[in-house]
Amino acid sequence: MTHTLIDDFGRRVSYVRLSVTDRCDFRCVYCMSEEMTFLPRAQVLTLEEIGQVARAFTELGVEKIRLTGGEPLVRRNIGELVSAIGALPGLKDFAMTTNGAGLRRHAEALKSGGLRRLNVSLDSLDAERFRRLTRTGDLAKVIDGIHAAQDAGFHRIKLNAVVLKGRNDDEVIDLVEFARRERLDISFIEEMPLGDVSDHSRAETYCSSDEVRELIESRHPLTATTEATAGPSRYFRMADSDTRVGFISPHSHNFCASCNRVRVTVEGRLLLCLGNEHSVDLRAVIRRYPGDGERLKAAIVDAMPLKPERHTFTTDGDVQVVRFMNMTGG
Ligand code: SAM
Ligand code: SF4
Repeated sequence: MTHTLIDDFGRRVSYVRLSVTDRCDFRCVYCMSEEMTFLPRAQVLTLEEIGQVARAFTELGVEKIRLTGGEPLVRRNIGELVSAIGALPGLKDFAMTTNGAGLRRHAEALKSGGLRRLNVSLDSLDAERFRRLTRTGDLAKVIDGIHAAQDAGFHRIKLNAVVLKGRNDDEVIDLVEFARRERLDISFIEEMPLGDVSDHSRAETYCSSDEVRELIESRHPLTATTEATAGPSRYFRMADSDTRVGFISPHSHNFCASCNRVRVTVEGRLLLCLGNEHSVDLRAVIRRYPGDGERLKAAIVDAMPLKPERHTFTTDGDVQVVRFMNMTGG
């Protein structure tokens, strides 16, 4: 069996994002609607099944795994999965994206289980506005969670901020100052048209990375770096700080040509592209042939030709993919 995953456009898949739950303790306005129906348990992969998927990918040459969701820290016994994945040979990078609210409780176990890096989503430093954007979130708890993670030994934690015009674009500089003070990296994300959110019109709130960059440069000149991480961010540095500023710009700077990623939803659907519906049902393979890693790997290899060349997101506010981001695994 081949030991690398290469798609029809010559891109090597080396990075997998695994969604470990569709549930969340927040209801961010760009990610979920206020009333959400979550998946029944039988449809959700067990932790053991997610572990099998992770193992299959590492045996196929995947070097980076990110756990996401939904909110990974609301999945019961998430520490067990982290330890199982942390012990897989061949893994060079192991990360999690979290809303941060559960970090005070979980940071130490994550660190000792082998998790290496954390991304924490933070869109506002104003407690009331934070509550409005997340509908349920408590800012103080998230900031305390970041500190707990630093105390547990996580370095270079990265903040992720989705910028919405008229909602939080006036906080871009404050967020950069916060990152500098706390010795964090920060990435600004353009909102993607995933799921039909009732809260706002995406065409009106679209804020391009170039606009965000201009705002930052009015205070801190940015120099482009050639640093490549395995993800879609373009990175910049400031002369007087370690903090890196990244931009994830699905609309304005298409990153598909260098895409090395696939995603697996918590239902075990292998998604070949964030912006398309092409997928393969890995859960069916796992449940039909329990414990048969070779069949699982064959299904993954066979899925590679389905990876499309690019996404086709536009900024006109249309929903182009009906999945919500919590289903996709951000
Ligand atoms: N709950 C975790 C969190 O919020 O970090 C992990 C899952 S969340 C879906 C992953 C990332 O996707 C977050 O940084 C969030 O801000 C981002 N996100 C959610 N919906 C989005 C959208 N429609 N466009 C762009 N980013 C989005
Ligand atoms: Fe939850 Fe993350 Fe979606 Fe916010 S962005 S609702 S924290 S899954």
